[in-house]
Amino acid sequence: MSSPFSKPELVCPAGNLPSLKAAVDAGGDVVYLGFRNASNARNFEGLNFSATEAQEGIDYAHQYGARVYIAVNTSPRPGQEKTWTSSVDLAAELGADAVILADMALLDYAKRHYPSLRRHLSVQASACNYESLEFYRREFGIDRAVLPRVLTLDDIRALGDRTSVEIEIFVSGGLCVMAEGRCWLSSFVTGDSPNMQGVCSPAHAVRFEEQQDTLDVRLDGVLINRFAPNEAAAYPTLCKGCFEAEGKQGHVMEEPYSLNVLEMLPAIMHAGISALKIEGRQRTKHYVKEVVSVMRAAVDACAADPQSYRTQTTWVERMNAVSEGGARTAGAYADEWR
Ligand code: SF4
Repeated sequence: MSSPFSKPELVCPAGNLPSLKAAVDAGGDVVYLGFRNASNARNFEGLNFSATEAQEGIDYAHQYGARVYIAVNTSPRPGQEKTWTSSVDLAAELGADAVILADMALLDYAKRHYPSLRRHLSVQASACNYESLEFYRREFGIDRAVLPRVLTLDDIRALGDRTSVEIEIFVSGGLCVMAEGRCWLSSFVTGDSPNMQGVCSPAHAVRFEEQQDTLDVRLDGVLINRFAPNEAAAYPTLCKGCFEAEGKQGHVMEEPYSLNVLEMLPAIMHAGISALKIEGRQRTKHYVKEVVSVMRAAVDACAADPQSYRTQTTWVERMNAVSEGGARTAGAYADEWR
């Protein structure tokens, strides 16, 4: 069975209410967000939503025909499960259009308590193959899965051809090279786990130190990047650090690029993909506005006439202006190593 051409929905990030409104105003079909606790994978200080802010955001989105998905996508800590189950309860009470979950106990909880609330499998579950998607569909009735950023487009197309689960993929923002939800890098260096505390490079451990000729970036004392004066210094993550290995210095795990699939949109729309996710709940309202506007224009142009679709120079310039560490088109979708 070959995948039909389809126009996917645009799923946009919001770390606060102004960003949510910017995403809706810029044409996002969906905004995803998290509550202000460890239940979501962007648990940074100053980010995320209280119950009142989430309600205002959901009302705003619905007023303009957009939807809101709520991420409760970290793993409950033993003895603190209530933080996670009450976040699912709150998402349902506020009228969210879906919950994004990774932990099996939470998927089970949501299925039993809110059977009509859509359940999306978070990228944090790292489901990469048909059998895995089928397991989550059969046991927990997932409607959609967000695929890890380690699959090629051919892998994704093959999955879409077999599964009845809707497929969502990342189309812009930072890359994660790990089997997502399984990364121990941050835990190893800082003691804080991205999988249980929602932090990958927690802010309290990050230090930017100006030296005589360099800007050194450390994570809990470990030097992970050294920048020349005037060089753009992105927020550090360990996987994109510059290290010495086998006598060579460089980005040994992953280049510090942002994903940007503008040129691949026709192929993506022929791959049976239901939704395109923009990464960046930790980014600014300006970032959200720019990336959502560009992606909205590109998706609409490609859906209207895929044969004559061409990436506009202004789109690329606007994306590059807000991307961390420079943008790269294909990202993991075309990497040869796995
Ligand atoms: S450190 Fe890198 S590989 Fe690990 S979770 Fe963060 S982005 Fe992913």
